[in-house]
Amino acid sequence: MNYDMLLLRFGEFMLKGKNRARFEKTIITQVKALLKPYPGASLRKEYGRVYVDLGGESHTQLIPVLKRVFGVASISPVKVTPSEIEEIVQTAVAFMDERAQEFGEVTTFKVNARRVWKVFPHSSHETNHLVGSPILRKFQQLKVDVRDPDIELRVEIREQGTYIFSEVIPAAGGFPLGTNGRAMVLLSGGIDSPVAAWSSMRRGLEVECVHFYSYPFTSQRAKEKVIDLARALADHAGSIKLHLVPFTEIQTAFTQLGQDNLIITLMRRSMLRIATKLAERERALALITGDSLGQVASQTLPSMNVIGRATDLPLLRPLVMMDKQEIVSLSKQIGTYDISILPYEDCCTLFVPKSPSTNPNLRIVDKIEATMSHLPEWLDQAVEQTETITLYAGEASVLTGQPENSEMKDDWF
Ligand code: ATP
Ligand code: MG
Repeated sequence: MNYDMLLLRFGEFMLKGKNRARFEKTIITQVKALLKPYPGASLRKEYGRVYVDLGGESHTQLIPVLKRVFGVASISPVKVTPSEIEEIVQTAVAFMDERAQEFGEVTTFKVNARRVWKVFPHSSHETNHLVGSPILRKFQQLKVDVRDPDIELRVEIREQGTYIFSEVIPAAGGFPLGTNGRAMVLLSGGIDSPVAAWSSMRRGLEVECVHFYSYPFTSQRAKEKVIDLARALADHAGSIKLHLVPFTEIQTAFTQLGQDNLIITLMRRSMLRIATKLAERERALALITGDSLGQVASQTLPSMNVIGRATDLPLLRPLVMMDKQEIVSLSKQIGTYDISILPYEDCCTLFVPKSPSTNPNLRIVDKIEATMSHLPEWLDQAVEQTETITLYAGEASVLTGQPENSEMKDDWF
């Protein structure tokens, strides 16, 4: 079908309260950022809604992109026609004609007209009949059901034109990006942390990513993989800051302690300390990880307890109660899965001991750290040597040179 524009509805929380103006502004900024690669499209704002005029861009390309906008509850592709009854009827019939292949033996429908422009000579009720009758005459298999129709044909009559649409496609929902503050997500190359980042963004957090690498133990490829993951997240956020932290020195020191089963615990604590310093520098108020309770040794409750104490900031774990299957399915839907499963090693998988502790002792861990007199200095150095890059929506992949497929899986809710 040849649509003219897309209608983006805000979530219900947007409709009232003193935050509305700020929320709407945020949504518009994100829509603009995501529309950059589509110069034909332009946007128009109205109370509780945003309209994107397609201007020749394809709706099948733009819908998957705009579904990512946080705070947008749903999207409808719209046909626009002049606000005159003959034109409206004609367009509505043509609209149903194009949807006819979706009709089963018996498909139920109703017309739901709304006269916003009061000068229009027919009431909403009259318009329902004026539009519905010719449709029923033309499509014998259609039956009217005003309660729960398969197709609800919406007809919004406005001064500047009448909007005709029927599909309501669910979008990301949640809170507009950044309206709940800023946080640092610890981004590994795995499946979980990108999902944790997305879930946090959906709750209205602006996220910056921190990644620890141990060159030359981890390859340039492994680093590029994480850059690609951050870039995939930028396809949702518009842009993402990624802090790349050299971790070789600290990691090597831990491997030389002869405390193999505590290495992961010690490494995680140092990562949190460095991330905390970066968070302070970037004015972020929380840390986020991809931990899921019981998934691996470092994610038992005793491990989380000992590791979590290394930071004073709130430590958010959006996936903590989720099953692996749910996490995997989300990662496929947000477009990070295919990157996450690439084989390049992560600094933590490299030195994984045979039996990492599932029940580390806080006193022992504290003692070990106290014997490492250079540790505070190394943590500061790691922060100083951190390299920060910004990734933008629609940029080409570092690994493949191709822009990522912008089509998300259709069944993503
Ligand atoms: P993921 O799939 O996110 O890697 P995981 O189940 O493999 O998670 P771990 O590898 O134990 O679990 O990591 C737990 C969390 O610690 C990760 O979700 C991530 O937030 C953080 N993390 C681990 N390694 C790194 C790293 N190299 N850089 C930044 N954060 C890391
Ligand atoms: Mg991992």
